[in-house]
Amino acid sequence: MVAKSARILVVGGGGTMGSSTALHLARRGYTDIRVLDVYESPSANSAGNDLNKIAGTDSTGVWGELSIEAWDMWTSDPVFKPHGHAVGKLDLTSNDAREEELRGKYERIIAEGRGDTVEWLKDEEAILCKAPHLKGADIKGWRGLYCSSGGWVAARDALASVARSLRSYGVKTAFGTSGTFSSLLLSPDGSCTGVRCVDGTEWDADLVVFATGAWSPGLIDLEGQCESKCWVYAHVQLSPDEAERMRGVPTIYNDKLGFFMEPHTTSNILKLCNEFSGFTHLTPARPFGSNPSSSPLISVPRSHADHPTDTIPTSSLSDIRALIRTCLPHLRDRPIINQAMCWCTDMPDARWLLCEHPRWRNLVLATGDSGHTFKMLPVVGREVVDLIEGKVGVGSGFGSDPLPALLPETLARSVSMSTIGHRKAACSSCLALLPSRRVPWTRS
Ligand code: FAD
Repeated sequence: MVAKSARILVVGGGGTMGSSTALHLARRGYTDIRVLDVYESPSANSAGNDLNKIAGTDSTGVWGELSIEAWDMWTSDPVFKPHGHAVGKLDLTSNDAREEELRGKYERIIAEGRGDTVEWLKDEEAILCKAPHLKGADIKGWRGLYCSSGGWVAARDALASVARSLRSYGVKTAFGTSGTFSSLLLSPDGSCTGVRCVDGTEWDADLVVFATGAWSPGLIDLEGQCESKCWVYAHVQLSPDEAERMRGVPTIYNDKLGFFMEPHTTSNILKLCNEFSGFTHLTPARPFGSNPSSSPLISVPRSHADHPTDTIPTSSLSDIRALIRTCLPHLRDRPIINQAMCWCTDMPDARWLLCEHPRWRNLVLATGDSGHTFKMLPVVGREVVDLIEGKVGVGSGFGSDPLPALLPETLARSVSMSTIGHRKAACSSCLALLPSRRVPWTRS
């Protein structure tokens, strides 16, 4: 059992899983918590440092339970409530295989007793009733799932809100070079006793939580379990009138084209993401604990915050234009602004990698976000703290669908990923980005 006075470091605590963990530690009465990050919270390197993300309860099984708990907090907890927008969400498709998946989900949600939150939209007309802003869009043959219990969350603002709450609890911080992880400190028996940062600062700790998102596989040996990838987003500036016409509309997700939601409340900027399997950026790397005589190629993020003039691949740009042309044709000639890449790290089964590292005692991994974790900001840290407190164990879990990734055995299993990247993308930045072969999970 970890004492409430234990010295706890949260590496990557300016990001999504890390700041949520620090919040739940503080709420449970832990008194000596320090957040380390490259950038001050909300970290400019965090995948969550962005205008908005889709959230909602249209998942089933264990993810359904977690998403209901998360959405409850998005709509009631004072830290999160100002940033949750309950406008509903649409998951739409024009292809038969995806329709079958969505119909299966719809039926499972009904079977779980939540039929009042979902509606099957059988055609264009039904879609337009929910989303009048798609009038004029080329959505012939589209159908899909409407979920009333969801919408979007103001992501950057929510991370900033968590950071304010952490300050009010007296959570300590170190940002910049004294907060940037370089190596673990280990005792002779191999237990983790703290962290060394890039400027040489050594932080002693009784427990270290490692939540460095897409940077994790390049920083510490995860035995090939996580694969980091980037996705892209871009924006269009709307006029006040155009923005007004989109106020309160549900989020739109299409499995082939991508997604968008309401424009930002004050700037009237509309964010757009295309949907694809992500790019990798393979770089020779030597994560802490890996074999010192080799430098395998690992997909390591190239941060937009560190390289603000990087643009996005031309293929992504044309995908985003296709999304606009199809869904919002009146905006088709509008300049596309503020393009950026955003990094996540995938598990082979798209579940979180939450476990004590099997090689180093007192080092807890909280990563493997698999591109769908921002909506879980209110609850993911609770799962980490439950793990620390021994409340999540082998064979436990939720409902009939336990979380295998919560077990130390997951890491020991060492799933080796297939070789990725077989075609160099046309890229307008200086990155050698490679399209990944695997689409594990949609990001909505
Ligand atoms: P991050 O939030 O990235 O945090 C990692 C932290 O580690 C950062 O703060 C970073 O600065 C820090 N760090 C890195 N290196 C070091 C170091 N050496 N030392 C110390 N700290 C370090 N999810 C949804 O739920 N809904 C959506 O609609 C959605 N849309 C998305 C759209 C895009 C374009 C992308 C890219 C992702 C989207 N996601 C969405 C996914 C979601 O953003 C991620 O799953 C989630 O933010 C990842 O959280 P994380 O804590 O693992 O990583």
